[in-house]
Amino acid sequence: MNFDPHAFKECFPLFAQPENRDLVYLDNAATTQKPEVVIGAIGDFYRHCNANTHRSSHRLARRATEMVERVRRQSAAFLNAASAREMIFCRGATEALNLLAYSLCSELRRGDEIVISTAEHHANIVPWQMMAQRHGLMLRYVPHVAGVPQFGRLDEVLNERTRIVSLAGGSNALGLRPDLADIGRQLRGHNLRWIVDGAQLAAHETVDVRAIGCDFFVCSAHKFYGPSGIGLLYGRESLLRNLPPWQGGGEMIARVDLYASEYAAPPHRFEAGTSPLAAIAGLGAALEFLTACDRAAIATHEQSLLSELHRDVAALAGLRLLSQPRDNLGIVAFALEQGSPTDLMHWLDEKEIAVRVGHHCAQPLIRAAGETVTLRASLAGYNTREDIEALLNALRDYQSFSGSAVDTPTLSLAGDWDGDDLSGLPVEQLAAQRSWQDRYREVMRWGRAIGRKPAIRRPENLVRGCESDAWLVHRQRGGRHYFALDSDSRIVKGLGALLLSQVDGHSAAEIRARDLAGLFAELGLEKHLSESRSNGFYALLQQVLEYAGRAGSA
Ligand code: PMP
Repeated sequence: MNFDPHAFKECFPLFAQPENRDLVYLDNAATTQKPEVVIGAIGDFYRHCNANTHRSSHRLARRATEMVERVRRQSAAFLNAASAREMIFCRGATEALNLLAYSLCSELRRGDEIVISTAEHHANIVPWQMMAQRHGLMLRYVPHVAGVPQFGRLDEVLNERTRIVSLAGGSNALGLRPDLADIGRQLRGHNLRWIVDGAQLAAHETVDVRAIGCDFFVCSAHKFYGPSGIGLLYGRESLLRNLPPWQGGGEMIARVDLYASEYAAPPHRFEAGTSPLAAIAGLGAALEFLTACDRAAIATHEQSLLSELHRDVAALAGLRLLSQPRDNLGIVAFALEQGSPTDLMHWLDEKEIAVRVGHHCAQPLIRAAGETVTLRASLAGYNTREDIEALLNALRDYQSFSGSAVDTPTLSLAGDWDGDDLSGLPVEQLAAQRSWQDRYREVMRWGRAIGRKPAIRRPENLVRGCESDAWLVHRQRGGRHYFALDSDSRIVKGLGALLLSQVDGHSAAEIRARDLAGLFAELGLEKHLSESRSNGFYALLQQVLEYAGRAGSA
């Protein structure tokens, strides 16, 4: 293998910017970084041949048209389509799937069936749900175990009413890469259209739509080092010829009369309006860039990082791995046994490590796996062993930091309750921390002062505007205001502890007189914390002021 990820990384100018020198970018399933050639091609298009395509015939328009049709041919080669006429430019995988859902379903009959899986991105679920509701169609799911589709049992949901099977060639939440050859075998002999959502697949493997044998294939350029706003829809020419268009407008017609129009032949029939021309130029550069790379070697490199990551994450206590290294396109997904995944994401962000926390637009899968959110690290060719080490070290650091927490007390808050004892939290201690990292750790440590309070975790106590759930209650005694807070997030608890240490037991006038936002800024929290975390502090502050104000100016 002669692939050097460091040399490859040098093609991507984002990593060379001073502010990104330490960046460990592990959010590639969301989008990849762009090589200089792609960025350059977009600028060059505007510099040298910006004109609208097809419509006019002057020199610039001809150049732009030639460029678009050249990239169409490159795209056909990229997916090994039989002809450029089989390649449709669209905004991305989402638009391509909506186009297919709209056009294919408009020809179906009530009661016809569509098969998808629980591992699909929302882009391959919601359009089918919409069309099923509109046309009275039936949605069926591939049998699954805890959300993980059992593609080997696909034939259990196929029957004579199945008209469409639309499945991801790789899951963006777990990386799971089904055996497309086996799926093809199970579909053989059925009168249906097979769609492969290749948004993740095309980023990691060389795709051959003819070898796969699918009818349609969709992908987004931004997942494979190309620009955003442009994607590809491959369709078998014989099928495209008979497929109705989904959007009307310029470019997609042969002739327009007052009450009806004649449509253009594919692919233009499906490209109404002006295409994102600069993005198409960027896509062309990305395809050239990929063609010049040893893609098999990049895949081997990614797979080797992936196994290492799985092996080492599995060895960490307190994490639950959801992905598995086999048949995986490059994703490690895990949940936390305790605590807030958002805290961990911010902890990693503090160390310049970009991962994603959330449902990854795959809610049915994440929910069936028994979680609401997961953390996801996703790989690309420019990731290095050092990136993996940085992530693992940061995870270990977080584990030992949060594992060292003494169990926080559980407060029942019955009757004339007392909140947490915050007397041991002098602000000076926070201010004394010299580096931002140390101050951040100190805020996290303060979070331990806030005990668990299951009784207040009720919708009416929820503070709106916090990224992680936070519950705040208030009571007044003898003209003084008392508060109690709970949250799953240590950082929210820490910020809450800072706030409450300044207001708990004070009168409304004293609370109002304090410049708490000023204190927050003075401690450097506003500057260093992410906007969502700062907003969480301000939301808590707002709620405190409201409680104190509502209770009168005692
Ligand atoms: N399908 C899959 C499997 C994806 O990963 C994504 C993007 N995360 C999409 C569809 C939608 O792609 P886009 O947002 O580029 O339209």
